[in-house]
Amino acid sequence: MAIPFFKEMRIGGYMLKQKLLGRKRYPLVLMLEPLFRCNLECVGCGKIDYPDAILNRRMSAQECWDAADECGAPMVAIPGGEPLIHKEIGEIVRGLVARKKFVSLCTNALLLEKKLDLFEPSPYLFFSVHLDGLKDHHDKAVSQKGVFDRAVSAIKAAKAKGFAVNVNATIFDGHAAEDIAKFLDFTTELGVGVSMSPGYAYERAPDQEHFLNRTKTKKLFRDVFALGKGKKWNFMHSGLFLDFLAGNQDFECTPWGMPARNIFGWQKPCYLLGEGYTKTFKELMETTDWETYGTGKYEKCADCMAHCGYEPTAASAALSSPLKALWVSLRGVKTTGPMAPEISLDKQRPAQYIFSAEVQKRLSEIRRDEAAAAQLKEAQKASTAA
Ligand code: SF4
Ligand code: SF4
Repeated sequence: MAIPFFKEMRIGGYMLKQKLLGRKRYPLVLMLEPLFRCNLECVGCGKIDYPDAILNRRMSAQECWDAADECGAPMVAIPGGEPLIHKEIGEIVRGLVARKKFVSLCTNALLLEKKLDLFEPSPYLFFSVHLDGLKDHHDKAVSQKGVFDRAVSAIKAAKAKGFAVNVNATIFDGHAAEDIAKFLDFTTELGVGVSMSPGYAYERAPDQEHFLNRTKTKKLFRDVFALGKGKKWNFMHSGLFLDFLAGNQDFECTPWGMPARNIFGWQKPCYLLGEGYTKTFKELMETTDWETYGTGKYEKCADCMAHCGYEPTAASAALSSPLKALWVSLRGVKTTGPMAPEISLDKQRPAQYIFSAEVQKRLSEIRRDEAAAAQLKEAQKASTAA
């Protein structure tokens, strides 16, 4: 999910317009998940633990375009699952580019080389390749040997064909700062930008032991950025978001900044946390109790510093305090000295566990729809025969 859009003037113009219109909450990036099926089983993944009936579902191309129109965000990130498994992915991307949406196609790259012909290079399209570290580290994170080499080969092939490519890394506990720094050196050699985000502690991820808490996250990123002084790592993030990762900003999350639409509908409240669904984007914005989410408000948000919650906060802070943003970009990220005060967890509400009930509800809906479709088909067959 590399998000280089903050560098784009058009996004800045869009934000300014929303501000002038007095809109308190507005989306910057639509997180579109047209399927949950994946060809990998990463240990930190919280997206693929569904029964087959759900993993086999797809959003149609039309549903994807309708979601983009309905939401209105200037950028669409397509994670998943693995979007390249979707049979209509070329068409989906073409339709979004035709709407002048910036499209970030997030992929583990196993199918990328084979499927490059489905796409055309465009300033509106970039591939965001999942790479969690150097070879040994990445292959371990995705639980399969050889994936790193295939991803790097696909990146080179895509670049050679004129596509814009970035990599996105999810950072977990136990990844040494020195190794992350070497990985960032490697991305510079490869000539790609990089986005990094601490992994969100998905309650359904197979490995629950290696998610970073906020204190460890800040310390780790300070160590990484200290090693990067004088280097030209090409981050696809705003300076203020990096400053936040290093513990220098006391941001609260902006969950509506990157709303998520998947096969279930519009996900409440954000891409990371599924606490119910709505049928329309309007309903999502109007019926979600936004004030009850975020670090210090809800137990499941306690350790979150993920970019989908906080990059929109950083973008908004840059818009309202441009001097602060300029100061960070001139000075660089501070890696020593006191950190910004941490949000107190004393008053957070306890976690609610509604996932199983939601999945059951969706499964019954899927079965009901399938039964209705089968009945209709039978009726049509009978009337043709008669
Ligand atoms: S590649 Fe992405 S979607 Fe697939 S298992 Fe890994 S983290 Fe999950
Ligand atoms: S802190 Fe914000 S972005 Fe993170 S899980 Fe909670 S609501 Fe979502």
